[in-house]
Amino acid sequence: MYQHTRVDGSVIDLPVGKAVCVGRNYAAHARELGNAVPETPILFLKPRTAMAPLSPDFAIPADRGGCHHETEIAVLIGRTAKNIPLDEAPAVIAGYGLALDLTLRDLQNQLKKQGYPWEVAKAFDGACPLSPFISPEAMGDVTTAELSLTVNGEPRQHGQAQDMITGIYELVAYISRIFTLEPGDVVLTGTPEGVAALAGGDRLVLSLGNGGKALATFITAVR
Ligand code: ZN
Repeated sequence: MYQHTRVDGSVIDLPVGKAVCVGRNYAAHARELGNAVPETPILFLKPRTAMAPLSPDFAIPADRGGCHHETEIAVLIGRTAKNIPLDEAPAVIAGYGLALDLTLRDLQNQLKKQGYPWEVAKAFDGACPLSPFISPEAMGDVTTAELSLTVNGEPRQHGQAQDMITGIYELVAYISRIFTLEPGDVVLTGTPEGVAALAGGDRLVLSLGNGGKALATFITAVR
């Protein structure tokens, strides 16, 4: 059973809630999938049953078409946030980590074409592997955070929070006007370009950094 943890392995005393995710929050990723850059954040949810530990390995669905990695900065919510102003956003954040927004891309493309919701492609059991979290103090100024992913030693994704269309604090405040954020919820802040399909046995290294300095590195594999 998944629980939120810190990088030292200790369990965080928060329940496991929903994940609120944002689509197309980096312009270059919107373009790589042939999508327009949105004017307001595109939001969708993953239930807590989608959450799974990122390490030491994670499962992807078999026989449902390509399953893409989307590496994203994950924001752990520590306090209830409903309709909060921007300047209260930092106070509701309990930690930062990395998530894989696993996406059954072939299925999602089919759903998009039909005008149907995406949940079947993005909210299935195990669709949200989450790393342990670092504290906001350890993160420092999150507006300069960065993330990267290598698969089998090959660089695949690299992104910087400053390239987000809607920044992290702005996202938390915006989301709180639509979905109440509760302690133990997670916000996924969008993926930079470089998404691609995963295969069984792939070895992934995800890293979270700030201003050129690595803060946490997570090694995992596709089961
Ligand atoms: Zn995503």
